[in-house]
Amino acid sequence: MNSAKLIDGKAAAQRVLTQVRADVEQLKAEGIAPALAVILVGQDPASQVYVRNKILRAEEAGIRSLEYRLSAQTSQHTLLTLIAELNADAAVSGILVQLPLPAHIEETRALQAIAPGKDVDGFHSDNVGGLSQGRAVLTPCTPSGCLQLLEEACGDLSGKHAVVIGRSNIVGKPMAALLLKAHCSVTVVHSRSTDAKALCQLADIVVAAVGRPRMIDASWLKPGAVVIDVGINRIDDNGRSRLVGDVDFDSALPQVSAITPVPGGVGPMTIAFLMKNTVTAARQQAHAQRSSPEAACRSIS
Ligand code: NAD
Repeated sequence: MNSAKLIDGKAAAQRVLTQVRADVEQLKAEGIAPALAVILVGQDPASQVYVRNKILRAEEAGIRSLEYRLSAQTSQHTLLTLIAELNADAAVSGILVQLPLPAHIEETRALQAIAPGKDVDGFHSDNVGGLSQGRAVLTPCTPSGCLQLLEEACGDLSGKHAVVIGRSNIVGKPMAALLLKAHCSVTVVHSRSTDAKALCQLADIVVAAVGRPRMIDASWLKPGAVVIDVGINRIDDNGRSRLVGDVDFDSALPQVSAITPVPGGVGPMTIAFLMKNTVTAARQQAHAQRSSPEAACRSIS
C-alpha cells in the first residue's frame, strides 16, 4: 500500500486531543472545569459503544463526564426535563443526546431543547443557521474533523471544487457549509441526483457520506483527487465481519493523491472534535459569565 497517500485520522485526532488536554489544563488553572453530559436512551448496541468511547476520551482529556443512561421506555417529557436541568446547571459545559432516539421521542424536539451554547454536537438550529451564515458557532463534529483532515492534506482549500456525496443534517449539509466557508466551490450530490458520478469526476475533493459500502470506485474520481471517506459500513467478508467505507479503497488508491482509510480516518476525528467543542463551550460560557452574568443566563437559555 502507498502509505504516503494515507490520511492518518488517528494521528490527526491525537494532535487535536493533545491541544484539548492543554486547553483543559489552562481552563482548570483559571478555575473552569469543563464537563460533558452524555444522554443515552435505550440499549442500541452501536450507541452504547459510541457513548463508552466518548466518555473514555473525555476522561483522558481531563473533561468531567456525566453519563445518563435512560431506559428505552423513557418518555419525551422526562428526557426534555433532564435536558432543561442540564441547561440550567452552570457546572455542565456541553450536552450530547446520542442518536438515534427511540421512535416515540421526536429527535428534533430533543435536539432543539439543548441550549445552543451547550450544543456540542452542533445540531441546534441556532448553530446550523450560524454555520450557514459563516459565523463562529459550535459546528458538527464529523464534518469539522473532515475539514481539518482536508486542510492538513491540501493546505489552502480556496478555489477547489469539492463534491459532497450525501445531504444529511449531521454530515452532508454541514460539510458543504464548512467547505463553502473555506472558499471551495461546492457541489452536493444525493440519492436523487441523476449525474452524481459525472459531477464527482470533476472534483478536486470528494467527501463521501452515503452509508453504502464501497459505492465509489476509481471510475468516480479525477486523477489526483483528495478523498475523505465518512462512511462506516459493516460487511460480511467471506464469513468475517469487517468495517468498510463508502469508497472502494483498493480501487481508489492508485487514482487519488490522498485518502482516508476506514477505520482509522474520520472516526477518531469525530470524537476529538466533540472534546474540542466541549472545551470551546466551557470557555465561551465562562467568558459570558465574566463579561455579564445576566447575558450568560440568556445565552444558555
Ligand atoms: P444518512 O443515511 O442520513 O444520509 C445518507 C445520504 O446519502 C443521503 O443524503 C442520501 O441522499 C445520500 N445517498 C444515498 N444513496 C445515494 C446514492 N446512490 N448516490 C448519492 N447519494 C446517495 O447517513 P449519514 O448519517 O449522513 O451517514 C453517512 C455515512 O457516514 C454512514 O455510513 C454513517 O455510518 C457514516 N458516519 C460516520 C461518522 C464518523 O464519525 N466516521 C459520523 C456520522 C456518520
